[in-house]
Amino acid sequence: MSNDSTYAAAPFDHAKADIILRSSDNIDFRVFKLFLSLASPFFETLFEIPQPAEESEDQEVKDGLVVVPVTEDSKTLDALLRFCYPCTLADDPQIDVLKDALDVLEAARKYSLDVIEKKARQAIASPKILEVDPLRCFAIAHRGRLREETLLAGRYTLTQPLIPSWFQEVELITATDLLSLLAYHKKCGDAVYALRLDLSWIKSHYGSSQACSWLAGQYYSGTDRYSQPSRVNCGCPRSNPPRYSLSNLLSVSLQWWEDFMEETFTALRDKPCNETVKTSAEKTVQTVKARNCQACSPTITEGMRDFVDLFTRKIDETVSQIELELSF
Ligand SMILES: [Zn+2]
Repeated sequence: MSNDSTYAAAPFDHAKADIILRSSDNIDFRVFKLFLSLASPFFETLFEIPQPAEESEDQEVKDGLVVVPVTEDSKTLDALLRFCYPCTLADDPQIDVLKDALDVLEAARKYSLDVIEKKARQAIASPKILEVDPLRCFAIAHRGRLREETLLAGRYTLTQPLIPSWFQEVELITATDLLSLLAYHKKCGDAVYALRLDLSWIKSHYGSSQACSWLAGQYYSGTDRYSQPSRVNCGCPRSNPPRYSLSNLLSVSLQWWEDFMEETFTALRDKPCNETVKTSAEKTVQTVKARNCQACSPTITEGMRDFVDLFTRKIDETVSQIELELSF
């Protein structure tokens, strides 16, 4: 009998368990065959093989239970077993470390634990992890041959600079895969950057000068000689010549609008994603509000919200037409 192995913590130390699974790092998990058999045909088959009652040379028995060594370490085995057990005995484990998710995924595949494989996939491609670590998700999902998750993570990598800093999991993927990802990122950046060359998507969205009056730099003050409210130009600088003017709708282009568009497009070239526009818009809203302009300051928040909606929809539309070419 082996004495250098220890029992796992509850619920895998149950007195009435009927088999022991020993992890690669020598932790013994006392488990019920029934739970594992129900979760996986692999275990069902494994447990169907008649187990010798007495300890023999090739079959270890500990405290009266047959010991089955597995290749997974205790951390992975613990997660796997928690998924197999009914929720009354063990909650599903939280897989918030990406590398653990890959280990669980590989083990789930090995033991034909389809439901667990699905859960590991969900853990790898959860929005929380994707937002924080899209490149690591990409590398891990691709290594795990998860097509859908890899492409999704690829899309999220657009929130990072074109040339990312080194990260551990980059070693999980080949140079060819990384090259594909960089090419995809560059194509998306170029395509989104090109949206500045033809602003018809903005003009057709507004359709009339009234719809984009928040960009007109005018406010109403007093009345004219026909007793109509008269429009007065605000004090915000105008751009000359304008680059982002909505020429058929407005006769002027405000400098803050020009600056916003210029900065946003420059940033989008490196990070062609919605977040870039949102960040840039937020900054402009703060700046313009601080100007205390009678025309621009009160209308910027609402105007920019609508414009960000339009802009992000346009980015989604543009980026979704670009394919990330990978082999699986
Ligand atoms: Zn103004």
